[in-house]
Amino acid sequence: MIKIENLSKTFQTEEVETTALNNIKLEIKEGEFVAIMGPSGCGKSTLLNIMGMLDSPSEGKYYFDNQEVGSQKEKQRNKIRKGNVNFVFQSFNLIDELNVYRNVELPLNYLNIKSADKKARVLEILDRMKIGHRRNHYPQQLSGGQQQRVAIARAVAANPKLLLADEPTGNLDSKTGLEVMNLLSELNNDGTTIVMVTHSERDAEFAHRVIRLFDGEIAAESTAKKMPSINF
Ligand code: ADP
Ligand code: MG
Repeated sequence: MIKIENLSKTFQTEEVETTALNNIKLEIKEGEFVAIMGPSGCGKSTLLNIMGMLDSPSEGKYYFDNQEVGSQKEKQRNKIRKGNVNFVFQSFNLIDELNVYRNVELPLNYLNIKSADKKARVLEILDRMKIGHRRNHYPQQLSGGQQQRVAIARAVAANPKLLLADEPTGNLDSKTGLEVMNLLSELNNDGTTIVMVTHSERDAEFAHRVIRLFDGEIAAESTAKKMPSINF
C-alpha cells in the first residue's frame, strides 16, 4: 500500500534549514498496524503528514497504491487523499458547534450517497465506537475518551483504506487510552491499515511492527511479530 524510497524532508525558515527526515526507506502492506516511536522532534509527525498527503517530500519518492503522490501538486494530492486516508490527532479536533452525530456525518456529506444510507452508516459507526448513546451531545459535554471515540468514528466513517493516528492516546489517562487502543485494534482486524505515532510502549504492543525514528532517520525496526490478519 505504501512505499517510501530515499525520502528526505527539510524545512526552510528565515535563516535555518531543518532536516526533519533523512533518507527514509519504508514499506507498509495493506492490513498492517504499524507504530512509529522516537523522541520529540525526530520527525514522526512529518512522516505521518507525508503519508497522509498533507505535505510533500523534499527528495525521494512516496507511492500510495503504486501511484507516486509525493511529487504531485497539492490539488491532485488532496484528490487522492479523499476516500483513501484519514487522520486522528492527540487533540481530537472535533467541531464544537456540531453534535456528535453531525461531526461523524461530515465526511459523508462530500460523498454521493443517499441520506438514508448516510444515516445508517453514521449510526453503525457510532455504535461500533461505543458512543451511539451520546449522539446528540456536543464535544464539550464529553470526556476525552469519548471525544477521541467520536474523532475515530468520523475518521473512518467514509471507510478510508489508511488511518493515520498521531499520538491518539496522548491526552488520555491509561485506562481510557487502552479502550481507544482496543477500538483501533478492532478496526485494523476489520481491514483498515493503521499507522500510529505513539510515546507509549504499551500502545505499541497493539502494532504488528514498530519503527523507531531518531534524528529523522529509521534507527531500528522490529520484525513483524505476527502476520496481519485481513478479513474482508
Ligand atoms: P515529532 O513529531 O517527532 O515530534 P516533527 O515531525 O513534528 O517531530 O518535527 C521534526 C523536525 O522538523 C523538528 O525539528 C521540527 O521543529 C521541524 N518542523 C516540523 N514541522 C515544521 C515546519 N512546518 N516548519 C519548520 N520546521 C518544522
Ligand atoms: Mg509529533
